[in-house]
Amino acid sequence: MENTRNTLRLEALRTRWTPEIDAMLVAGPENRRYLSGFTSRDDNFTETSGLLLITRKQAFLLTDFRYLEWARQEATGLEVVMYSQSLGTTLAGLLQGQEVRILGFEDAYLTYRRYQRLVQAVAEAGPNVEWQPVAGMVEALRESKAPEEVAAIRRALALTEETLLEVAAALAPGRTEAQVAWEIERRLREKGAEDLAFPPIVAGGPNSAKPHHHPGDYRLQEGEPIIIDLGARVDGYCADLTRTFVLGPPDEQFRKIYTLVRRAQARAEQGLRSGMDSRDADALAREVIAAQGYGDAFGHSLGHGVGLAVHEAPSLSPFKDRATTLLPGSIITVEPGIYLTGWGGVRLEDMVLLHEDRAEVLTAVGFFEW
Ligand code: ZN
Ligand code: ZN
Repeated sequence: MENTRNTLRLEALRTRWTPEIDAMLVAGPENRRYLSGFTSRDDNFTETSGLLLITRKQAFLLTDFRYLEWARQEATGLEVVMYSQSLGTTLAGLLQGQEVRILGFEDAYLTYRRYQRLVQAVAEAGPNVEWQPVAGMVEALRESKAPEEVAAIRRALALTEETLLEVAAALAPGRTEAQVAWEIERRLREKGAEDLAFPPIVAGGPNSAKPHHHPGDYRLQEGEPIIIDLGARVDGYCADLTRTFVLGPPDEQFRKIYTLVRRAQARAEQGLRSGMDSRDADALAREVIAAQGYGDAFGHSLGHGVGLAVHEAPSLSPFKDRATTLLPGSIITVEPGIYLTGWGGVRLEDMVLLHEDRAEVLTAVGFFEW
């Protein structure tokens, strides 16, 4: 079963190669997992638990002794090759037998030092290989989710939502952001998450004006916005969910900003579908916020793909250099926000599954209504 899946994904990758590429060196941990089934994650980005070398006919997973047994168990259909002294020498040896002239490599994931060492080792061993940077090739394959991937994300999201509702019910003045964040971690794990998709964000009062605030010893107070952004990881797949809360009765300002962000989000969720340009998708929400004069306070993209990585392709960005056509089967977030220095912020984040005629909202947790 896994064997078939790996074979199909490797074939899909090969059909995307430009004709001049003879082989691909895959270094991104999620890309490696997607193509091989090997579930190791490289938590320290200066270390790798393995690289894939994929030629027209063969696929190798190069790893060291620490990961050998694990890789053999999971990377079915690939030849697992152990390197002991040098990854570069082992790679060079494999390349020699493969008649690879042009080798594509993932420039986003190979550190400069590792790249230099590999190039040097291959050159010293003799093969005349031209290294060609390749960006986003496996990531593009990962954009459209297969049914089993959608199912894993749904499981991760359900667990995330359950946790959020429990934690929200226990919010109280005087509790610190860090205490709430720990409560989120504990509950996610106890409910069966294999890991967190990312460290939870709990941002109270003025801290909620910082979209990626790290929870600290700030004590929650009545009447202030509280942003909570969390996600579980289940079977490798991530969830991503944000809601904004207030303790006690919300004031006029909170109601106004919250209602506006929700209106922007709802418009995007109604208008999104596959086949759209990602800039047009972003604009659906951005126009609503900008029309009320808060355009500058919404300083990040409308959303991002979610899968094996919590942030992956596509990006719903207003910028041209990131523009793509949205694909059916993509799971993306819709997360407009307004951030006002000194006051705080409101962000609302749902996950949606793109179909050809609509976006299916996967998130079920509701909103404040007035
Ligand atoms: Zn989030
Ligand atoms: Zn997000």
